[in-house]
Amino acid sequence: MRSRYRIEIEGIVQGVGFRPFVYRIAEEMGLTGWVTNTSHGVLIEVEGEGEALEAFAGHLERKAPPLANITSLAKHSLPTAGYRDFTIRGSIARPDSRVLVSPDTAICPDCRRELLDPEDRRCGYPFINCTNCGPRYTIINSVPYDRPNTSMARFTMCTLCRTEYDDPADRRFHAQPNACEKCGPRLQFRLADGSVLPGDPFMLTVTAIKQGKVAAVKGLGGFHLAVDPFNAQAVRRLRARKGREEKPFALMVRDLETARRLCKIKERSEGLLASTESPIVLLDKHPDPGLAIAAEVAPKSRYFGLMLPYTPLHTLLMEEFDTLIMTSANVAEEPLCADNDEAQKRLSGIADVYLVHDRDIVLRCDDSIVMPDGNSSGRGPVVLRRARGFVPAPVPLPMSGDPVLALGPELKGSVCLTRGNQAFIGQHLGDLKNLETLNFLREVVAHLMDILQVSPKALACDLHPDYLTSRLVEEGGENPWEEGLPVFRVQHHHAHILSCLAEHGVNEPALGLALDGAGFGTDGTVWGGEILLVDGTRMDRLGHMRTLWMPGGDQAVREPYRMALSCMVECRGRKDALKLAPVLFPEVPEGDMEILSGFVERRTNGMMTSSCGRIFDAFSAMLGICLFTSYEGQAAIELEMLTDPSVTDTLPFSVDFDRDGTAIVDLLPAFDAALDLHLAGEPLERLGGMFHRTLAAALAQALSACRETLNASERVQESIPMGGGVFQNAVFSEMIRRELSGRSLRPLLHRTVPTNDGGISLGQAVFALEALRKGF
Ligand SMILES: [Zn+2]
Ligand SMILES: [Zn+2]
Repeated sequence: MRSRYRIEIEGIVQGVGFRPFVYRIAEEMGLTGWVTNTSHGVLIEVEGEGEALEAFAGHLERKAPPLANITSLAKHSLPTAGYRDFTIRGSIARPDSRVLVSPDTAICPDCRRELLDPEDRRCGYPFINCTNCGPRYTIINSVPYDRPNTSMARFTMCTLCRTEYDDPADRRFHAQPNACEKCGPRLQFRLADGSVLPGDPFMLTVTAIKQGKVAAVKGLGGFHLAVDPFNAQAVRRLRARKGREEKPFALMVRDLETARRLCKIKERSEGLLASTESPIVLLDKHPDPGLAIAAEVAPKSRYFGLMLPYTPLHTLLMEEFDTLIMTSANVAEEPLCADNDEAQKRLSGIADVYLVHDRDIVLRCDDSIVMPDGNSSGRGPVVLRRARGFVPAPVPLPMSGDPVLALGPELKGSVCLTRGNQAFIGQHLGDLKNLETLNFLREVVAHLMDILQVSPKALACDLHPDYLTSRLVEEGGENPWEEGLPVFRVQHHHAHILSCLAEHGVNEPALGLALDGAGFGTDGTVWGGEILLVDGTRMDRLGHMRTLWMPGGDQAVREPYRMALSCMVECRGRKDALKLAPVLFPEVPEGDMEILSGFVERRTNGMMTSSCGRIFDAFSAMLGICLFTSYEGQAAIELEMLTDPSVTDTLPFSVDFDRDGTAIVDLLPAFDAALDLHLAGEPLERLGGMFHRTLAAALAQALSACRETLNASERVQESIPMGGGVFQNAVFSEMIRRELSGRSLRPLLHRTVPTNDGGISLGQAVFALEALRKGF
């Protein structure tokens, strides 16, 4: 019997070739009706025999195009309308938009083939794309996703491009950025003074890089600085100009084969490298690499951060080079450069030449960073920096409510805007310590509000009163959100735990572990090694790392030897610590040690902290691994990099409850013992392994002890949600996972939401949703 279905589909279904796909299967199955884009997604009416209609609905979900992501599919039966054919109809606009914008995606195999095919009309054209690939999020001004709402609006399609665009059977049917050499964006080569040089912009750039110059190359979400990684002098010049002493640079490699020559790669990592998200993947360096990359590219690191060419321009560049440094073009922690003239201004003194083009980047978006194995036990890939390729794909939430906006933390900033039961985490913003980054935050919020068509009803920010984001909330100004909204201030580590729970779809009370560098505590001290009982907006601090003095306050973060000295004063007393200090820290003037140890003894000039990050710093510095840092987390990273993870011995530690019943995890006995071992010549690799294992064992014991103190009436999860920058440490994550499993506790670690502060905004948003629900 003939019948008619009306099918409504929501999710990422626009700009990904969904309507041609529907058209094709309807034609193949001999069904009639129509398909159209709406502001909710895609609407289909289809007529035919009952069985064929069921099969059609099944195909929609199972055979959807690669970039489509269906979040809901609803079908209703209707009386037949007598459609005679199947057509693609024009878009229907509705007031409340729910359609999702696709993230930017890497060049697809078809476009790549055409790009390199001398017979193809787009051979060598650096802006080739189709419905399966290309820019989306970074070129959209507003929804619906139609060409006039993108930065392609100024380019009028030539007849050939227009024909493809209009043909439902074509791979470029309604590919909004569709273009060719004749009608689309073009490259331009500029010198540092802004003058435009005639000639082939692409080849001029290639020549400049080969001469050791620093080239600023405009990509998908912003500029990269491209430098020859085999030229040590060029790499050193880049470091000096960028003010980046030791933090590793990312490399773009031509293909998987080149990646395999540089790094040890498992099959799963190959999939990650070649994925549509095309992130930077942190991979173990090959012990005997087939290519002589300059040591200055990634000093003291076990990893190379590798990515494959993900735009056609990159693909062409990588035909000329097998490996290139491609590092984000920004100054220190300022946001990425995206506009041609702005880049020229801000990169002055850094870049020698510029390869630019005339397709505007509406919104900047950095490269994402992924670690293929969060630990060796197959936790799978872990996102460390969530940006291009991932944003703005939603995170499904275990709760719903009015839209809320979370402004995130200070370092590794990101925002999070919710709509119903979906959370949209914006791209990595950088450190929110300057006006540029703050303005970038406003841009991202305004853009998210626009493409999601929502306006937040409440705000969330960090508890820290001095963060720029906290002040943004108070002082108002040029903010895209309404003034006078309710504001919820969320404790940093509370947000970490909520974020981890939300990513795993859990909305129940849980005992969590938050380990990171620093967050403002509810008692006004600096936290960072916390065992928290979290139940939505409620949080109890059941345990923490023993507090230590940070002599000189924040200066101790940049000079980890200060934390080592602090630990030594606590273990051995000031006199003995001062005797050992010149042996351990020959670079530090003895007078400084005298003063700093006095701070520790008298508890002056500094602050108390329970930070786990500072414990890592102290241990790293005490072993002489890293006394001074030039980037965040350096001392801990360098300790992890040389640690032997197979070590099973532990050092002494204690877990005790203080008078208030709070569990205190004390690692000072471990420092005391390790100091003797170190002075006796114990290898650093072994000491590192013992330290990691001891910390994991101590925390697992404390978590068990805290669980036992809980009232039987408390309905607490078996799982232990964990969050904070310390869990970026793959060696430690694996050890704590095993320790917890050994105690029948189920560790819950982040996957697609960063475990570092990049994931804080999600936790803050969850807090605000819960607070609104409770009517706070
Ligand atoms: Zn394509
Ligand atoms: Zn054209």
